Amino acid sequence: MTTALLWFRRDLRLADHPALLAARDAADEVVPVFVLDDVLLKSASPVRVGFLVQALTDLRSRTDGALRIVQGAPADVIPDLVQRSGASSVHISSDYGPYGSRRDAAVKAALGKVPLVATGSPYGVSPGTLLKDDGTPYRVYTPFLKAWRARGVHSPALTPRSVTWSDGGLRTDALPAAPEPVIEATEAAALARWTQFRDTDLESYHEIRDLPGVDRTSRLSPYLKWGLLHPRTLHADLGSSAGAEVYGKELVWRDFYADVLHHQPQTAREDLNPLPLEYDEPGALFEAWKQGRTGYPIVDAGMRQLLAQGWVHNRVRMIVASFLTKDLHVWWPHGGRHFMQHLLDADLASNQHGWQWTAGTGTDASPYFRVFNPVTQGRKFDPSGDYIRRWVPELRELSEKHIHEPWTCERPPADYPARVVDHAAERQESLDRYQRARGK
Ligand SMILES: Cc1cc2nc3c(=O)[nH]c(=O)nc-3n(C[C@H](O)[C@H](O)[C@H](O)COP(=O)(O)OP(=O)(O)OC[C@H]3O[C@@H](n4cnc5c(N)ncnc54)[C@H](O)[C@@H]3O)c2cc1C
Repeated sequence: MTTALLWFRRDLRLADHPALLAARDAADEVVPVFVLDDVLLKSASPVRVGFLVQALTDLRSRTDGALRIVQGAPADVIPDLVQRSGASSVHISSDYGPYGSRRDAAVKAALGKVPLVATGSPYGVSPGTLLKDDGTPYRVYTPFLKAWRARGVHSPALTPRSVTWSDGGLRTDALPAAPEPVIEATEAAALARWTQFRDTDLESYHEIRDLPGVDRTSRLSPYLKWGLLHPRTLHADLGSSAGAEVYGKELVWRDFYADVLHHQPQTAREDLNPLPLEYDEPGALFEAWKQGRTGYPIVDAGMRQLLAQGWVHNRVRMIVASFLTKDLHVWWPHGGRHFMQHLLDADLASNQHGWQWTAGTGTDASPYFRVFNPVTQGRKFDPSGDYIRRWVPELRELSEKHIHEPWTCERPPADYPARVVDHAAERQESLDRYQRARGK
């Protein structure tokens, strides 16, 4: 009897899973394992841990109870599991992030003669695949998209009819205590969500995707983050409509940012295009931003949704990121860290580069001098104020006229904070700092 270890990471599913097929083909039985890695767990909010715990519970039952969940450092844990189970190979989906790449190199070295076999990745087109004609990586999305389309995406992998799962005689640790997830974290729920979105909202996605009050984007990002669903499955099922075309392009942003981070891992912490700007140290205003108490309704709604649900609409992510960097003059990594802690879909590449796009230091960024006005953004993208009413109960009774500017009411709600800064003044301050930076 031969044994292969299948080490699950950001691929918590059984469908469209090339590494699972490789493990099944390599041996008579497959031992599925997941490592609870402290490095990743310590920076995750309870909301995200709750999602992971339910996804692992589901995967355990779908692998006939065989999934072994073991706590520790992967470079110690994986070789130990190999030795105890007698596995002759370890199978993974590639991880291209800075930490994941280092971790996998350490595990490979620690495994010695037992191969660490990487098949597939969490992306439509894996990082490092596409290069410009001169052999250098892409830094701008549109030419990347063109190259991505020219290459095309593979069809989904077959789902194996049966796999001989085994626990390899290994122990399993308890899952961490965590709250119930805010959305159902199972592979079936991910597919059901996709099907529902495809059948109801995909066609009009291009018209409604920017409206947080309408709130009808796919909300698949947490599933994509943990790999309960692969983007290949979505690309294959898009069909053709104006909405599907735009949706497919959004999925390519995810591949693009992963590619940029793969080639420039330092951009997880630093500007891709450094600007010698003067920043303010994060202090009381940063705390007000984190708590959703800035006095700007759409900013506060977004920051409160983040704490409550671990998810925020894309348009609002841009608005709150612009507010922190341009109105409060705080360097983006501070906000990026807060997002990475709380988002269910926290993804280093999409997050750090989404922040840099807004801050004006990243890829084909909105230029630094484009500063989002939280009032006009609110009026344009949440015209009736529905999104604000959902997350800021103090403002629920305000009319459409006042909800984006409660300070214009004759008697502003007493329990809602006054504006912590004046947007017009801070916009000018931002532009002045930008001019000084350019002169340096
Ligand atoms: C400051 C900031 C931080 C962000 N942090 C993250 C993050 O940590 N994780 C994350 O997955 N996305 C992040 N995004 C991108 C985007 O906001 C989310 O992917 C999107 O809101 C998820 O909701 P959805 O699944 O309903 O998206 P949909 O609109 O339904 O889009 C479908 C999918 O396309 C991908 N996608 C869409 N827009 C983007 C984008 N701008 N960049 C990369 N991928 C995109 C996502 O995988 C998304 O699930 C961030 C954006 C900004 C501005």
